[in-house]
Amino acid sequence: MLAPLAEESDGVGPSSSASSPINYHEILAATKDLLLSLTPNNPIYAAFHDDQVHDPLGAGAYAFRHDLVEPILLELVSDELLSRDPDLTGKPPINVPTRPIIIHAGAQPNNSPHCGTLVVFCYAFAFARAVRDRLQAQTAGTHLDPPPVSVEITFVDTAPVDGEGLEINGIQYQKSYRDVPGALETYMGDYQEVLSLLSTWSSIPFTTTFQSHFFSHPSMPSILRYVTTHHLTLGRQLSPKHGKLALRAACPVAGCSLAEKHGRLNTYHPSSSTDTERITLHCPRHGPHTIRLTNPREVARLEANAPTRNLLRSMSQLLDTRAHHVRVTGADYAGTYQEALLLRPLAAGAKLSKSLYVREGGYDMMKVFGTDGLCSYRVLKERVGGGAEGLRRVWKEMGRWMEDPKRLSRAWSVEYLAGVVMGEKVEDGAGNVDGVH
Ligand SMILES: [Zn+2]
Repeated sequence: MLAPLAEESDGVGPSSSASSPINYHEILAATKDLLLSLTPNNPIYAAFHDDQVHDPLGAGAYAFRHDLVEPILLELVSDELLSRDPDLTGKPPINVPTRPIIIHAGAQPNNSPHCGTLVVFCYAFAFARAVRDRLQAQTAGTHLDPPPVSVEITFVDTAPVDGEGLEINGIQYQKSYRDVPGALETYMGDYQEVLSLLSTWSSIPFTTTFQSHFFSHPSMPSILRYVTTHHLTLGRQLSPKHGKLALRAACPVAGCSLAEKHGRLNTYHPSSSTDTERITLHCPRHGPHTIRLTNPREVARLEANAPTRNLLRSMSQLLDTRAHHVRVTGADYAGTYQEALLLRPLAAGAKLSKSLYVREGGYDMMKVFGTDGLCSYRVLKERVGGGAEGLRRVWKEMGRWMEDPKRLSRAWSVEYLAGVVMGEKVEDGAGNVDGVH
């Protein structure tokens, strides 16, 4: 199919025949047709590019063109001044944050970490290290001690386990990872391995937490009181689909553990003189069960879907005057998502991990292309040099994003990451990362 096209144009090369230039358009179109015919039942769609990767300077890329760390540190200082104890108002103003700084990221441990998760984890540690180094430089030769900087990874162990859910009368029920014996252990070793490597490479300590820690925070009862009082408004804002606040809890009857996924049957009881605030939840087999907001052990049973969790977490962290919380999140949870589902409720692109929404066999072609290491850290270790070499390449690339912040404000194709990680496009120079050789 391709040979006649090249011969028609003279078969030698573009520089040898000015009269009949090679028709690249037809050749590329024929290449697309060829690929489609190779695997007609599961066709491969070709896209071409000229390898001229560009980092356009607009919006966030322009605003944070030269530095991301300094503007964020100034914001943290500003937060401290705003919430400063009035007794301290006579003291000299601070110019570096004094509270511990915690860089947060999270993941659902329902697969071996894929490249999107590795990118977020690497960036969290790279950013933490950059913040620590900047604070050390700022306080060198002064009487100030820089605050500690750490990374905290929160596992969403309340994500639904595949094959354990059911639907009754249009209401969906799920079993969460933490309630299915053995479900969490499958991939947890891979996460611990990745986090330990990144901690070593960055010299940044890290902690891991689970959802019960989150709901056990001392501020949670009062936040839940606010959120459940406004459940009608917040339900509409946080769940455009069902219009209900998606709080849930596993049925407490031994061996059941079913949770009503979207909280559509919940009822909220404001306090009265004889009773306390409580939430009544519904099990399709055992009927209603209750969580009293005054009882920390019962509150720790609660689970929330992603937008509700995002709001609760942000409120809790905003109220915390003992530490600063900075969050690193994937691009699909940035932008409009935060504007519509967090900033608005606070004031009054396909992602790799979206296993729920990816069709069966959705990643099979990555095996054909040899890029399936992007789907799983476990596979990545087999595909790239053995051991941690693949992760080391992601870490090195994140070093470039840290050094050159405009790279944060653009979309990155899976093809580009494949080039970086699978070894076709390993770039040196600007992104040289300490501790990785
Ligand atoms: Zn039950």
